[in-house]
This record gives sequence, C-alpha cells and structure tokens, in this order.
Amino acid sequence: PREYKSRDKLELKDIFVAVKTTRKYHKSRLELLIQTWVSQAKEQTFIFTDGDDKELQMRTGANIINTNCSAAHTRQALCCKMSVEYDKFIESQRKWFCHVDDDNYVILPSLLQLLSSYHHSQDVYLGRPSLDHPIEAAERVKSDGSVSVKFWFATGGAGFCISRGLALKMSPWASLGNFISTAEKIRLPDDCTIGYIIEALLEVALTHTHLFHSHLENLQKLPIDTVLEQVTLSYGGFENRRNVVGVVGGFSLAEDPTRFKTVHCLLYPDTEWCPELKPR
Ligand code: UDP
Ligand code: MN
Repeated sequence: PREYKSRDKLELKDIFVAVKTTRKYHKSRLELLIQTWVSQAKEQTFIFTDGDDKELQMRTGANIINTNCSAAHTRQALCCKMSVEYDKFIESQRKWFCHVDDDNYVILPSLLQLLSSYHHSQDVYLGRPSLDHPIEAAERVKSDGSVSVKFWFATGGAGFCISRGLALKMSPWASLGNFISTAEKIRLPDDCTIGYIIEALLEVALTHTHLFHSHLENLQKLPIDTVLEQVTLSYGGFENRRNVVGVVGGFSLAEDPTRFKTVHCLLYPDTEWCPELKPR
C-alpha cells in the first residue's frame, strides 16, 4: 500500500460495482439494495440479472442489465453472468471491478478507503478466501488434467475486487465468452474460476482481507463497533438461525430482519425514511 496525493484520490465514479441477481429475487432481495446502498452509488452500480423488469428499472432508475443468461442455478448460468459482468467492466473504462451478490450490503466509504491503498494499474485481487486452505483442481487449461493445481480464491458470496490492470491481463481466459469455456474446462463455479485465472494462470496472489463477509460466517460474532468499518456484509444462511450483524438502531429485528436498513441509517442518518435518532 502507498499513499496518493489528493489529485490521484480515488472516487466512487472510478469503481464498477456488479451485483449478481436473478429475476425471482428482484422483489425479495434487490429492492432492499436499491433502497439502501445502491442509492448512494447509482451511477457505479450495475445489476446483472436474467429477466426484464421494466417496472423496477423505471421506478428506481437503477442500471439493470438483462444478461439473457439462463435463470437456472447452474455453473453455466452463473458463469454466463460473470462473463457479462467482466465484459461490461472492460467496456466501462473504470479503475476497479467489484462483484457482489444480491444479499450483500456494500459499505461504500470503507470500499473507497480500502481500494485507495492500492493502485488500479497494479495487479490487485482482493477478497475473503472461502476456505482456510487453497483449493486443488485438475489442470485442464495448461495441461491435460493429469496434474493438479492449487490456488486460493475469493468467495463470491462475500464480494471481491480486481484492479483494471489485472482484469486486462485476464482477457484471454475471461473476455467474450472465454470465461465460460475456462470454467467448463476446470469444472468449477464462477468465483473459483476467477481465482484459477488470477492465481494459477497469471500467478498473481489473492490479497486476503477479512473486511468482506458472506453468510457462511457467523455474522453475530462481528464486533458491533467494527461493523461500519467492514467493506461488505450479508445476512441469512445456515439453518433457521438468524445470521445477521448485531447492529442496533431505529429498526427492530422484525422491521429490519437483514439489519441492512439499520446499517444504512447509521451511515446515512439524513435519509428521509430513517427514524429520528432520539434517546429512548
Ligand atoms: N443466483 C442466480 N441464479 C439463481 C440463484 C441464485 O443468479 O438461480 C444468484 C443470487 O441472486 C445471488 C447468488 O447467486 O446473487 C448466490 O445465491 P444465494 O445467495 O441464493 O446462494 P448462496 O449464497 O447460498 O450460494
Ligand atoms: Mn447468498
């Protein structure tokens, strides 16, 4: 990490945030994001889905992109969406590509601060490793599959970011449909394939960060006084237990089961629908 003078200061408009969703989650998941963090980054957030929703697009003015990928929860369909996200990012000319799921809250000031400590022309791949050890897969791109390859990858459910410099180098395996064939060759999901291209093919290491969170972790364990310093949050997950961050504020658990509205009002208390912060 190095410091930059104010003239180089990273701005929100330098970031491309891709949200992966599917038509059936527009109402139950996406609307909440559009109401909360996406409203603070309208121009930089691009929602990648698999069905038209003119009504939502008109009402919210969000950038909703119909990938025309299948709505099935298969490797092919998910990799098809990632491939469109990648191509749109390259086209956008922005400095950073960040991918999140539709059950993530992005704390934009933290994201900006984190990315500010790197340079977009360097090779940067930032995210939360999804396992505590590298994954092992048969090498079917550089060889015939008889040798195996070990690499780390950032879990897609917690979000990850890639610098433009690195994204451009991924092009032979990621652009214009190549991502889908790369994923098919190694037979791994979209987020693993990203890790494979970066770590195994380009030999650039994942920068491990614990500021990104998925619902695979116990979110209750996140110290309340550090929640607003995190980069991404999530909710839900394993079994029936409520797996959400423990923030308290103007909304009860029943009014704000994901805690995203509560987080949003702590970050942006002037939002018109936020409750007045008065002592009880
Ligand atoms: N998703 C998708 N198509 C589907 C199901 C899910 O694009 O058929 C997206 C979903 O919108 C989310 C991501 O894939 O952004 C992960 O889905 P989910 O949170 O339901 O599953 P998990 O986190 O348990 O893998
Ligand atoms: Mn999820």
